[in-house]
Amino acid sequence: MKRIAVLSGLLLVGAISLATAQQQQPTALDIQQVKENLYMITGGGGNTAAFITDKGVVVVDTKLPNNGPGILDKIKSVTSKPVMMVINTHTHGDHVGSNSAFTGTVEFVAQENTKTNMEKMPMFQPAENKKFLPSKTYKDKMSLFSGKDKIDLYYVGRGHTSGDSFVVFSALKVMHSGDMFAFAKGLPFIDTSNGGSGVEYPKTLAKAAEIKGVESIIPGHSPVQPLSELKAYGEFMAAVVAATEEAKKAGKTVDQAVADFKLPEKFKGYDLGRLKPAVTAIYSELK
Ligand SMILES: [Zn+2]
Repeated sequence: MKRIAVLSGLLLVGAISLATAQQQQPTALDIQQVKENLYMITGGGGNTAAFITDKGVVVVDTKLPNNGPGILDKIKSVTSKPVMMVINTHTHGDHVGSNSAFTGTVEFVAQENTKTNMEKMPMFQPAENKKFLPSKTYKDKMSLFSGKDKIDLYYVGRGHTSGDSFVVFSALKVMHSGDMFAFAKGLPFIDTSNGGSGVEYPKTLAKAAEIKGVESIIPGHSPVQPLSELKAYGEFMAAVVAATEEAKKAGKTVDQAVADFKLPEKFKGYDLGRLKPAVTAIYSELK
């Protein structure tokens, strides 16, 4: 039953998770230091951040199911402090899948639309799993803790889903972008079934790039990137939407639009591997 629930939850994640759906078994994880008290744990799904504050550890995203013990082991290798909070950047199974490993007095935090999306996930249907849903939510912006431990959460619009948080560790000038900026040089998954929007995607990225006091980014699935890459990614997505709008205006079908797709020369380093689903999503939003 549990496996069925997990797999059907992942169906929503679509193309991105087809590859990761094979990884229901715990994966070998790696930990790397991003700043003095900020670590990134890779493998087993989306990138996890572990932020060591005075009071305890704040975890951002919990990977695919069954990776909880691995995440906790990696955290124990760098601090003896307990995990006190889990922030989920968005609703996908490769970012919330191991929430249930964080028991005790752990507070779960997410943007309010993400909470609504998570409540629909099969993995949170059993009564005993409801306590791993967000209990603290926000709409547009929320600050947690203060001084060097301050974390600012921002929701600046739809894109990957309807509730993607940008999580900023202010004193460190580092942002966890979740999957709004998942693949530094590749098309995103636009999850329209969870409120995502291709048309809004570049606008949301442009607003995220304007958030003050950020120098580097922990992306959803790529190595740490400088802020300039987030800005470039916003321009890339704006070009993708513009080219798609033009194709639709010219009366092309999705297949024709994909076949003829052309971006300005400066985006030639970007991978268009998920072009058809992206164009399909954008077409569905255009009149
Ligand atoms: Zn995602």
